[in-house]
Amino acid sequence: MAKIQMKTPLVEMDGDEMTRVLWKWIKELLIEPYVELKTEYYDLGLKHRDETGDQVTVDSANAARKYGVAVKCATITPNAQRVEEYGLKEMWKSPNGTIRTILDGTVFRAPILVKGVHPTVRTWKKPITIARHAYGDIYRNAEISVPGAGTAELVFTGEDGQEIRRKVCDFKGPGVLQAIHNLDGSISSFARSCFQYALSAKQDLWFSTKDTISKTYDHHFKDLFAEIYEKEYRQAFEEAGITYFYTLIDDAVARVVRSEGGFIWACKNYDGDVMSDMLATAFGSMAMMTSVLVSPHGQFEYEAAHGTVTRHYYRYLQGEETSTNPVAMIFAWSGALRKRGELDGLPELMEFADRLEKSTLDTINGGVMTKDLALLWDGEAKTVNSREFLETVKGKLN
Ligand code: NAP
Ligand code: MG
Repeated sequence: MAKIQMKTPLVEMDGDEMTRVLWKWIKELLIEPYVELKTEYYDLGLKHRDETGDQVTVDSANAARKYGVAVKCATITPNAQRVEEYGLKEMWKSPNGTIRTILDGTVFRAPILVKGVHPTVRTWKKPITIARHAYGDIYRNAEISVPGAGTAELVFTGEDGQEIRRKVCDFKGPGVLQAIHNLDGSISSFARSCFQYALSAKQDLWFSTKDTISKTYDHHFKDLFAEIYEKEYRQAFEEAGITYFYTLIDDAVARVVRSEGGFIWACKNYDGDVMSDMLATAFGSMAMMTSVLVSPHGQFEYEAAHGTVTRHYYRYLQGEETSTNPVAMIFAWSGALRKRGELDGLPELMEFADRLEKSTLDTINGGVMTKDLALLWDGEAKTVNSREFLETVKGKLN
């Protein structure tokens, strides 16, 4: 059988630990036998990031800007323990943070539903998509570990020399201090991506922040969304029969739990980080959540929402079999290939992506799955290890 040809390379961002192992297997078993895979490869494994002074992360993000579609493996965000474990030169920043800053935009995360796994929340009938702003706030903060008594101030110096000052705190002793920021350009493109996505999905859009407490910062997000909605989207929303509605984040959480699902929930960067893990788990498993970063300039980066699954990796290193779920990673590849096919006018590639996803879902719906799903499965399930799972999917694909 002739392999499907590609035109433009995908930007391939390799990663760490268990997901790096699965990455290789997915390519070897499910993609390379069928597609003449063209990628521009960047190794974002922690060791190589350290060797390049993290330049490889920046280069990979710039390649994503150039080519338009990237697929990323999960990567370690180093903490003190990782610095020691890998003997790092520095505690490098989160690669996702770096990539999102370069691409800007919004991360959309949606659960992959299968018939034998019921959401923990009984009322949920349809998927809930989280739209997470991907720039700024605590991910681009400036922090100080305050050594002792003193005064902290927030100072803005305008290009014209104008100065704005706010007292933050009179420290009587040691403490901590942090400043965060965001940009009107980024918030506006976040808003537009959400309105656009809601229109294309024909689903209501919710947006929530904490504007009652953060009367300037969060309130500004609320105002920009409202302004853009009124000026650019109200009419289209009314015609599509969908609604936009704003509410406080705590009210939103309560409403989400009482809802039937089937809408898009726009969240600020940190809220989206936390809520997407909560939703993924409540819908089944972190490994059943797709994630795509959509930049306002029309670039797409596909990944899985989960991390590098460290606990499984340490078992794998000891020669044990692991039943790590590769579904979200398979969907990252299929999403990226489909988008590449769409942009390059390659219907065969798009169709392959559909078949790959269908084979994956058919495998699970047929009762073959990894341990995380088997624990939730309603009915008779056959638990397999990661490699066996991929081979079963391959069997269906053939
Ligand atoms: P994690 O890798 O998502 O894993 C947390 C736990 O969730 C696992 O131990 C496992 O539970 C379960 N799990 C997650 N994905 C799974 C899968 N595909 N199949 C089966 N079970 C799965 O999160 P973490 O342990 O907090 O973080 C590990 C590393 O990943 C950290 O270094 C972090 O910096 C990095 N990280 C990267 C990204 C990213 O690149 N997008 C995102 C988050 C975290 P059991 O052990 O109970 O089976
Ligand atoms: Mg997270």
